[in-house]
Amino acid sequence: MKFNTKVIHGNQHHDPSTGAVMPPVYQTSTFVQKSPGQPIGDYEYSRAANPTRTALEDALASIENGTRGLAFSSGLAATDSVLKLLKPGDEVIAMDDLYGGTYRMFARIYQEFGIKFHFVDMNDLAKFESLINVNTKLVWVETPTNPLMKLADIAEIAKITKKHHLLFAVDNTFATPYLQKPLDLGADIVMHSATKYLGGHSDVIAGALIVKDADLGEKLHFAQFATGGTLGPMDSYLVLRGIKTLHLRVQRHCENGAKVAAYLAQHPKVARVFYPGLENHPYHEIAKKQMIGGFGGMVSFTFTSHAKADAISFLEKLKVFTLAESLGGVESLANHPALMTHASIPEDKRKEIGITDDLVRLSVGVEDIDDLLADLEQAFK
Ligand SMILES: *Cc1c(COP(=O)(O)O)cnc(C)c1O
Repeated sequence: MKFNTKVIHGNQHHDPSTGAVMPPVYQTSTFVQKSPGQPIGDYEYSRAANPTRTALEDALASIENGTRGLAFSSGLAATDSVLKLLKPGDEVIAMDDLYGGTYRMFARIYQEFGIKFHFVDMNDLAKFESLINVNTKLVWVETPTNPLMKLADIAEIAKITKKHHLLFAVDNTFATPYLQKPLDLGADIVMHSATKYLGGHSDVIAGALIVKDADLGEKLHFAQFATGGTLGPMDSYLVLRGIKTLHLRVQRHCENGAKVAAYLAQHPKVARVFYPGLENHPYHEIAKKQMIGGFGGMVSFTFTSHAKADAISFLEKLKVFTLAESLGGVESLANHPALMTHASIPEDKRKEIGITDDLVRLSVGVEDIDDLLADLEQAFK
């Protein structure tokens, strides 16, 4: 089955009890048993499993070419369950440009539990490999990254993680499986903030993990079941519904994203544009290799004035783009990473990785491109 068919039919079945074409929202916490310990069906209690969540989890496995999907109450809950595979003394090597909340969880929660984190430039493969020791257990990569659109070569990193028997997790939120399939490239775990492109309509907070290995899937399910970060039936239904149009939406996000990036690249008030589809983007070659079919809808840029005030007044003047955190919905959003999504990263660390005060991040939606470009133009003026 091809991807565009999988998003609609992948691992989906009509409801066996009624023939309903769409999975019902099984809004129930518990399931009847005919005798103690003998449920009448496959379900006992919705923290362990719920049929609507199962329908979503099966769809997730299908679209990422995995064998097991797990749906969580948020992207961070998904990441949290991966970290629960570790124990004190273990070490993690992570990319140096991560979603702010991921960094915060690593540095402020799990570091306190005795897990050591190294944040490195994943394009320096020699440096990355030199950090691996007997305690290293997990490698965490986000590509493209938020908000600087750095890329990491998943296949090259996988060669190293396989050689050293390390778990390799990729946050695939920005690319989506429409553009990039980390499991096919050698990763062990794919993580998503399903809040973003998978849900696609800015109406639900959700997360996902997808794996190929059945044992790893069991361990992650145990961590989820034992600590409780599961996705509710209604939210599972919303994400499943979103996935059915993922291919159509991401195609348009890519078209509009490329046009916005090209517009910004020639604008006299713009200093730098961060978009993997631009030929002068430092990671354009990696993007062409591992992002198949487009470069996404996320575009960041800085101002020639390098003035924070310019970024703020630009953001205040936008009318079609909405000033809000988050990304990946059908509507265009704009964000000031230093003051909003990435405010939890200490200022010196932010400056070090390049999240300057004149950086603006756009999540380019699927509106008419003429209206988007006109909105940017009037805000620059
Ligand atoms: C939003 C986001 C997360 C966190 O997901 P939540 O659903 O907000 O918990 C993780 N990684 C990336 C790249 C994100 O954009």
